[in-house]
Amino acid sequence: MPASINADASNKSPVSDEGELNPFIIPVIIGDGVGPDIWRAAEPVLLKAARSSGHNPKFVEVPAGAKAFEATGSYLPAETLETLKKRRVSLKGPLATPVGGGMRSLNVAIRQALDLYACIRPVKWIPGVPSPVKHPEKTDIILFRENTEDVYAGLEWKAGSNEANSLIDFSRTNLNASIREGSAVGLKPMSEFCSKRLVRLALEWALKEKRPNLTLVHKGNIMKFTEGAFRAWGYELAKAEFGALTVPESEAVPGDARLIIKDRIADNMFMQSLLRPEEYSVLAMPNLNGDYLSDCLAGQIGGLGMAPGANIGDGLAVFEATHGTAPKYQGQDKVNPSSLILSGAFMMEYLGWNEAADRIRLALKRTVADGLVTYDLARQDKKLKEVGCSQFGEAVAERL
Ligand code: NAP
Repeated sequence: MPASINADASNKSPVSDEGELNPFIIPVIIGDGVGPDIWRAAEPVLLKAARSSGHNPKFVEVPAGAKAFEATGSYLPAETLETLKKRRVSLKGPLATPVGGGMRSLNVAIRQALDLYACIRPVKWIPGVPSPVKHPEKTDIILFRENTEDVYAGLEWKAGSNEANSLIDFSRTNLNASIREGSAVGLKPMSEFCSKRLVRLALEWALKEKRPNLTLVHKGNIMKFTEGAFRAWGYELAKAEFGALTVPESEAVPGDARLIIKDRIADNMFMQSLLRPEEYSVLAMPNLNGDYLSDCLAGQIGGLGMAPGANIGDGLAVFEATHGTAPKYQGQDKVNPSSLILSGAFMMEYLGWNEAADRIRLALKRTVADGLVTYDLARQDKKLKEVGCSQFGEAVAERL
């Protein structure tokens, strides 16, 4: 795991004076759209796996999203952020963000408020899951995406607004940059500090897990001073802090035991991920590249319903399904809860509850091997039997 857990003292004591296991409080944002569907299916699986492995988690709902707005008038109450900080490790369902207007993303707000600077997404195929590629078993990639900067910083202004117009004027006058009159404009900040801490986390993880290579994914040919700098800072950090343990691809010798540092331009990386995924093990990249590439990789292992994720900062972590609120399926008990279940397993690994995490993954494998899947996988392979979201959760729980 990328970072070890330093749980809050109030989250820690495993045994009470009476010899009972004290509950380990884990806040949960259930989320909008299909959030309640997947949580209903996932919670019993997570509880059973943890309890049968000697742990006693207690999931406590904290408000965020539409439900929080109805109850408190705020989409993201300050107390929710406080609880996430205090408890250090939490689980989160999807939260809706309107397109082209309305409020800014709550997901981005949580990541920024808690400084969860790395979005980590492991992509590994479960045998039996239908895939659009011939050899999904060749994909075993963990993606580290910078989570706080880039075009996600929320620095953009509407076409015709005073802010946009004054930025256009400033650019013309001071930067010799011609921007078409009346344009919408945005800024893409990328700092050495944030780029390096993301690459550092990815490198630490890669070395700890004895992964063979780490690839910096960037669009530095076009965006030279942002994405190009990300690449340069990545190599610089690897040399300065992990010099004896890493080697740039261009200097590696055949059979080199050191961690090989590669870099790929993002568009090429998308193609490589389809044609030669086995040559890539750990990927580190800026925010937007990571957003696109993680969904693309998820598609190769069955789709968004199968893709777990985590947002990690120093000593803080929010684990969440990669997918969004899938509003058209809301309340139908239909979607795949595996993404959240696997995010729960990922969380347990982070907490050091490895046995519980392994049990969950094995039970999920067995469920698929028995031919039971939700609609998203059943429609890709007619031999599989479609079950509902909660039925799938029950089937996994039975196989723990
Ligand atoms: P989405 O909710 O991820 O759904 C896109 C498609 O992915 C769905 O229509 C469905 O495909 C498939 N899918 C998603 N979840 C699935 C599941 N559990 N099981 C099976 N298939 C699943 O993306 P979106 O429609 O672009 O976004 C909807 C809302 O979610 C937006 O407000 C967006 O901002 C928000 N969002 C939130 C997060 C987050 O909370 N971290 C992340 C992404 C998006 P089919 O239609 O093919 O069945």
